[in-house]
Amino acid sequence: MRVMKFGGTSVGGAEQLRRVVDLVAAARKETRVMVVASAVSGITNLLVDAARVACEGGAVDALRSRFEDVHAGIVRELAGELGASRQRPVEEGLAALASELRGLLQGVGLLRECSPSVLALLSGLGERAACLILGALMRSRGLEPHLVDPREVIICAGDPLQATPLMDECRKRFAPLRDGGPGLMLMPGFFGGDGRGKTLSLGRGGSDYSAALAAAALDAALLDIWTDVDGIFSADPRLVPEAFPLPEVSFEEAMELAYFGAKVLHPKTIAPARERGIPVSVRNSFRPEHPGTRVTATAAPPEHPVRGLSFLRDIALINIAGAGLKGVPGTAARVFEAMAHTGISVVLITQGSSECSISFCVQQAEAERAVAALEVAFEVELEAGKVDTIERQAGLAILSIVGDGMRHRVGVAGTFFSALADVGCSIAAIAQGSSERSISAVISEADGPRAMAHVHGQYFGTTEVVELLLAGVGSVGGELLRQVQQQAPKLRAHGVDLRVCAIANSRHCVVASEGLSLDGWKERLDAGGDGPAMETFRDWARAKRPGRPIFVDCTSSENIALAYPSLMEAGLHVVTANKKANAGRWNHWRALRETASRHQRRFLYETNVGAALPVIDTLKNMLRTGDRVLRIEGILSGSLSFILGLVEEGVPLSKAVGTAMERRFTEPDPRDDLHGTDVARKVLILARELGRTDELEGVALDSLLPSDFDATGPLDDFLARLPQVDAGFQRRVDALRAEGKVLRYVGSVTPEGCSVGLMPVPLAHPLAAVKGGENALSFLSERYSPTPMVIRGYGAGAAVTASGVLADVLRLVEGPLP
Ligand code: ADP
Ligand code: ASP
Ligand code: MG
Repeated sequence: MRVMKFGGTSVGGAEQLRRVVDLVAAARKETRVMVVASAVSGITNLLVDAARVACEGGAVDALRSRFEDVHAGIVRELAGELGASRQRPVEEGLAALASELRGLLQGVGLLRECSPSVLALLSGLGERAACLILGALMRSRGLEPHLVDPREVIICAGDPLQATPLMDECRKRFAPLRDGGPGLMLMPGFFGGDGRGKTLSLGRGGSDYSAALAAAALDAALLDIWTDVDGIFSADPRLVPEAFPLPEVSFEEAMELAYFGAKVLHPKTIAPARERGIPVSVRNSFRPEHPGTRVTATAAPPEHPVRGLSFLRDIALINIAGAGLKGVPGTAARVFEAMAHTGISVVLITQGSSECSISFCVQQAEAERAVAALEVAFEVELEAGKVDTIERQAGLAILSIVGDGMRHRVGVAGTFFSALADVGCSIAAIAQGSSERSISAVISEADGPRAMAHVHGQYFGTTEVVELLLAGVGSVGGELLRQVQQQAPKLRAHGVDLRVCAIANSRHCVVASEGLSLDGWKERLDAGGDGPAMETFRDWARAKRPGRPIFVDCTSSENIALAYPSLMEAGLHVVTANKKANAGRWNHWRALRETASRHQRRFLYETNVGAALPVIDTLKNMLRTGDRVLRIEGILSGSLSFILGLVEEGVPLSKAVGTAMERRFTEPDPRDDLHGTDVARKVLILARELGRTDELEGVALDSLLPSDFDATGPLDDFLARLPQVDAGFQRRVDALRAEGKVLRYVGSVTPEGCSVGLMPVPLAHPLAAVKGGENALSFLSERYSPTPMVIRGYGAGAAVTASGVLADVLRLVEGPLP
C-alpha cells in the first residue's frame, strides 16, 4: 500500500490534475494506492476569508462565486477527457457543494458568529471539491477510485480547528480498507470527524497529516508527499535562493524542521509515519523525475553537522521575572499549567540559570491571552512584588538550525550566533533541544530573511560575499579598484566574491548592492549622485545589513576619519589608508576602538605606516606575545627617502623635490613631506600601538627645511624660492660625507618621547643604505636585543599601498584563500 498526498498546487489546474492521474496510474500498476488530495491552491484561504467576512456582516457573493468559477473552469478544461456522462455528475456534485457553502455562509452571516465546528466544515469544502473532479478524471482513465469520507475514518477529538486524532479508533475504522480493501482509494485531506457526524479540522496545512494518519492506519509501505518543490530544502527556498533539496533526512530531523516552520511538511506529519516505520518521500509533482527527499529512520548521518534551517514567524516572547521566583519550587509548573489550562501551546522555553526569569514563546495571536493567564496565576506574587513584570515582546520569529550531526560536535552554535552577529541581528532568546538536534534563536521577524540567508551561507555557502564601499579614488583608490578587478576572478575561484558596492569621491557617489562592474567605474561615478557619501553608505549598510560590508578609506580627509564610529555603528568594518583617524586626538583614537569592539567591527590600518610593509601587524604580534618594545626607529617617508637619495648623488634639493613631485612620490603639496608632519603622524601611530597617549603636538618635529627659510605662501612661490636652500643643504651633506656619514630623515619612538627630524648616520648604520623610496624600521625589544628586528622595502607608491589595503580587506574574509 502506498499513500500519495497531492498538495494545493499539485491539484491546482487541469494540467496538474492530469499529471496526478499519470502518477497514480503508474503507482497503481505496482501496488494498492490511497490518494489524499488538498484543495486547489488558494481555495482554503478563500473559504476562511469568506467565513470571516460573513461573520463581520460583509458581502460574500464575490468570494462564493470565485469558489464556483475556479472549479467550473477546471472541469470545462477537462471536458474533452471527462465526456458528457462524467462531466454532468461532477457539475452536480460541485453545485451541491456550492449550495452547502451558500447555506453555511448565510447562517454565519445571520448569526454573525462562526463557531469552530462550522469553520472546520466550511473550510474543508475545497478538499471535497478537488476530490470530486479528481475522482471523475481517474474514472475517465479507467481507474476506479473508492471515495473515502475522512469523517468516517479519521476520528478525532478536541479543538475543532486543531483536532487530535484518536489513533486506535482510526485504525479500527480503517481496518476494512486495510485488509483486502479496494485497490485505489481517494480521500479529501485536511479534516476528519468526531465519529458522530461532526467535522473536525486538522489545522492549516493538515492534508499532509491526513495522509500520514491514513498511511499509519493502513500499514502503508510508503507515504509520498507530492508538492511543488524538489523535496525538503536546506532552507525555505523562497527566503534562501541558494537552498538545495536534501536527498535524505531522518524522521527526527524532518520533525524538527517542520515543527520550526518548514512549511513543506505539516509539523505533525512525521510522527505517525515514524511510529510505524513508514518511509516518507517528499516529491515534486511538476518534476516527478527528481528523486526528492526520503525521510527514513536510517537516513545516512550527514557529512555536515547541520542538515537544514527553518524559520517560524508570528511569534511572541513572554517573560516572567522577579527576584521572588528564585529557588521557589513549582514556579515553572505553575507557568506552564496556566498555559495548558488556557489551551495555549508553548513553542519554545528558556530559563536563565539565575532562576529569576522564565521566558517562553507562543504564537503571536495567543500572546495576550497568555499574559492574562499568567497575571491571574501569579496575582498574589505580582501584588507582593515577588514578580516584577510579565512582559510580552511581539514581532518575533524563531530561526533554527537542525541536524542529527550536531550532537557532540563543537562550534556549530558558535557559527550560528556569530553569523547572526555579522548581520546585526540581536537575539531575544536561545534554546537548544537536549537531543542536540536543533538550536533555535528568537529574533525579530523583520531580520529573518537576511539572517536566514547569511546563516545558510555560513554553513553551506560555497561563496562568501564581501561588500566594499570605497571612499577616495585618487592614486591609491584607483589602483585598489584595478587590483580588485584583476584579482576578483582568482578569489571567486576560491569562494570569495569581492564586490565593490559603492564608490565615492569628494563630489559624487554611486551605489549598487549587487556590485558595480569595474569597467568604466569612472564614468558611472561622474554620473552618480552628489549627496553626502558617508550618509549614503550608512543608510545602505543599515537597510541592507549585508554579511561582510567593509568601508575602505583611501582619502586623506579628516572629516571622513571622524565618520568611522558612525559607519561602524551602521555595521561596516573599516579598512583605512588614511592616517588622520589614528593620528587625531587620542580620545578619538580610544573611542574608535571602543566603538569597534562594541559593535564587533574590525578596524584595520596596516598601510598607515610603511605602506604594505607588515609593520602594524608585526608590532601588534610582538606586544600580544609579551615582548616589550624599547625603541622604534625608522625611515618612514618614501618621499623623503627618495629626495635624500638624490641629494646624496649630487642633485640639488630643489631639483630632487621637483623630480619626486613629477613621479607622484610626494603629497600634492610637498611641504607636507618636507616639514615632517606626515612622518610625525606615523611615529605617533606607532607610539599609540605601544600604549602611549601622546598627541601630535607632542612629537618633536624638525623640518627638513632650514628654520630661517620662508616656506609659507602659494605652492608655486614656494617652489620658486626653494633653490635658495640648495647650496646650504649641499654643504651640509658634503661635510657629513667627509665624516663618513649620510643624512637621513628619521622618526623615532623612545622612552623619552617621539621625534622626527634629520639625523646624520654612519655609513655602517642600517638606515644609511635606505634610499630611493624605501622605508625601513627597526624594533629594539626585550626579545630583539641587541640586534633589532628590521623591516625594510618599498614603503611608498600607489601599487604597494593599494595592495596593503586589499590585504587588510582579505584579512576579514573567513574562508581559506589562495
Ligand atoms: P502543498 O500545497 O503541496 O502542501 P505547501 O505550500 O504547503 O505545499 O508547502 C510547500 C512550500 O513550502 C514550498 O513551495 C516552499 O515554498 C515552502 N517551504 C518552506 N520551507 C521549506 C523547506 N525547508 N523545503 C522545501 N520547501 C519549503
Ligand atoms: N488546504 C488546506 C490548507 O490550505 C490543507 C492543506 O493544504 O494541507 O491549509
Ligand atoms: Mg502543505
